[in-house]
Amino acid sequence: MNQPVPAPHAPLRLKKNEERRLRAGHLWVYSNEVDTAVTPLTGFRAGEPVEIQASNGKPVGTGYVNPQSLICARLVSRDPAHPLSGSLLVHRLKVALGLRERLYPAPFYRLVHGEGDALPGLIVDRYDAVCVVQITTAGMEALKDEVIAALDKVLKPAGILLRNDTGSRKLEGLDSYVEAIGQVPEVVEILENGVRHLAPLAGGQKTGWFYDQQANRARLAKYVRGARVLDVFSYVGGWGIQAAVAGADSVMCVDSSEAALDHAHAAAELNGIAERFATLEGDAFEALKNLKQERERFDVIVCDPPAFIKRKKDFKEGALAYRRINELAMSLLDRDGILVSCSCSHHMERATLADTLLASARHLDRSLAFLESGQPGPDHPVHPAIPETEYLKAFYSRVLPA
Ligand code: SAH
Repeated sequence: MNQPVPAPHAPLRLKKNEERRLRAGHLWVYSNEVDTAVTPLTGFRAGEPVEIQASNGKPVGTGYVNPQSLICARLVSRDPAHPLSGSLLVHRLKVALGLRERLYPAPFYRLVHGEGDALPGLIVDRYDAVCVVQITTAGMEALKDEVIAALDKVLKPAGILLRNDTGSRKLEGLDSYVEAIGQVPEVVEILENGVRHLAPLAGGQKTGWFYDQQANRARLAKYVRGARVLDVFSYVGGWGIQAAVAGADSVMCVDSSEAALDHAHAAAELNGIAERFATLEGDAFEALKNLKQERERFDVIVCDPPAFIKRKKDFKEGALAYRRINELAMSLLDRDGILVSCSCSHHMERATLADTLLASARHLDRSLAFLESGQPGPDHPVHPAIPETEYLKAFYSRVLPA
């Protein structure tokens, strides 16, 4: 049978020397780099596939364009024999799956991590037979049917949930929606580090579970035997339940979401640790202040908040929030305590978080030592030219008296 010949991609011509960054490894084209005299951006539909060309007309590769966005194009393939198409998506999914099957004993992981898996604009988290997809660019949205067909071909999932309700879609002029295809349960059970958890898919945070912390949660186990553990911003109890299973004496999870804490309780039952498990619903800043007033003390505290700095202009306010919450957490630690402090804000650099922790400790007249640090697991590959793809950091510190 003859394969249909794909329509040639429209050219997107760059200005002189603007192909250099792409040739050096980057995947993004900014709108001021396009030679609009040759290829006016107004001539493109949002999400249209394109051939990106150097100023002399030589192809750099294929990708897609969005004239409404500051990042106006993304390179998807450098290989002229395999341009952006449905079959390239299938190939990239297979390559992504190959890595995860090598790394993980069970089918619970991030299957596709955008640029890190050479699929800009696409996130796929796998919950065994269900895939949760987040499409973040107009170019990937235009390929939505091909993405679904490719997932069907490679994984044959029972259900696909499109959680296309992320804030970043606005920047691309995309609307916000959630759509289920096939069988998508409200809540799925997952296995992480040998522990059972419950992830609410359509009603939860992001795709339902934070796979990026898997390796970091595993690192926690050795610190918690016999300890009083506080899990702040716990969501459905990822860190806290694993701490209880690893032998913590008591675990308290704090979160503002009642539904998340209900799932945490149910997971505590599933793992047989419910009698050592408690939750506290409310604002974390208030809850920690109250615990301090009640003279509660903990041996290990995990602080894994939502991104306090979403955009660069929020830096000052967000950095102050990291400072306040970490200082509150440290003030609740017993004499020889462990603080696991995380930030998933790309704008909060690793060194800045380290400085924040040191300043908090000194303000409380305590000394601090860094024991370990963490990053997203290998199912979140980092693109070496795009620092934005590495966003999560975790510091494991010992907090002693001065
Ligand atoms: N630590 C979690 C992920 C945290 S996601 C894990 O390992 O899975 C961020 C969580 O913070 C969400 O569950 C959200 O409900 C909660 N949250 C956001 N703002 C809050 C606040 N001011 N006080 C308490 N919880 C908050």
